[in-house]
Amino acid sequence: MALKAAIRTMVLEAGFVRARILSPFEPVIDPHAPIPPSYRTGAPSLLMAALPYGNLHDRAPPWEGGAFIAPFARRNYYREGVRRLQKLGSVFRARYGGKKSDFRILCNSPVPEKPLARTAGLGVLGRNGLIITPEAGSLVIIAAMTLPFPLEPDRAEPEPNNPFPWCGHCDPVEPPCVAACPTGAVRGDGSLDRTRCIQWYASGHESAVPREIARNWGRRLYGCTDCQDACRYNQVPIRGVSSDEGPLPAYLDPVALGTLRDEELKARFKGTALGLSWLGPEGIRRNARLAAQSLPAGKSLPGGFSGLSGVSLLFAYTSGY
Ligand code: SF4
Ligand code: SF4
Repeated sequence: MALKAAIRTMVLEAGFVRARILSPFEPVIDPHAPIPPSYRTGAPSLLMAALPYGNLHDRAPPWEGGAFIAPFARRNYYREGVRRLQKLGSVFRARYGGKKSDFRILCNSPVPEKPLARTAGLGVLGRNGLIITPEAGSLVIIAAMTLPFPLEPDRAEPEPNNPFPWCGHCDPVEPPCVAACPTGAVRGDGSLDRTRCIQWYASGHESAVPREIARNWGRRLYGCTDCQDACRYNQVPIRGVSSDEGPLPAYLDPVALGTLRDEELKARFKGTALGLSWLGPEGIRRNARLAAQSLPAGKSLPGGFSGLSGVSLLFAYTSGY
């Protein structure tokens, strides 16, 4: 179909590594969940696209102190994906018609994206519970946009009786992703025990962190990637898109963070991956406290900035980044 091929070409030219179509699109979500009506509405088609952040950008300098921010959070890739889809939506509307509201973007939304991504063949489910794409492993964000025209749907390759078609070379009893998880959260059956996942807590989902999870928190201010790092599909060089959205450095001073008031923290992280509404200032302070507990004495500050106050220190890192 010429229209579908044209859309796909434009999506790939916009930096996404993979694009698939679901048609028609009917979101499957819990009818009783407190989710806005706009997320419950279907559309003639849904464009699903994978934006790679890769593993070549944002390499961290050697650790000299401070709490760590994972590479996926050092740019706001969700915002980057939305911005790119918004541009594409304007182009599609100008060329093929439709109202602005026909091109709704779903990115980090209440609509469960993994089942949709699997159905459309955007990627396959790994034993670590993540969607793995052939082009960029699991180092992608998944973004979607409704389209007001029916298109020929894409379908995943049928893999009867094999829920993890790309995991066959790994030991099914203790694959690398399971062995790498410091808290035993990866079950190896494609699901996670969220109550044991550091990233779940780091994202602000619970205020109280169980002692065993806190003990394994490490230097992380935000972002655990151990189960992704262990996967062979993420260990080859993967080029990511460049982005100016919400830059953050690899390390921040958790002690200085702990001294900032709510308004200062909100201002500091506005527009970044840590500015998410569900994390909030208290979540950032809590993560900072946990990271600070894991740092050796005198290592809360990356070297060379120790004469600066907390606020100026945080801004100094960014401007020098
Ligand atoms: S993010 Fe970290 S804690 Fe969570 S499942 Fe992966 S390795 Fe385990
Ligand atoms: S480490 Fe192996 S089992 Fe785990 S997700 Fe990657 S390929 Fe699959």
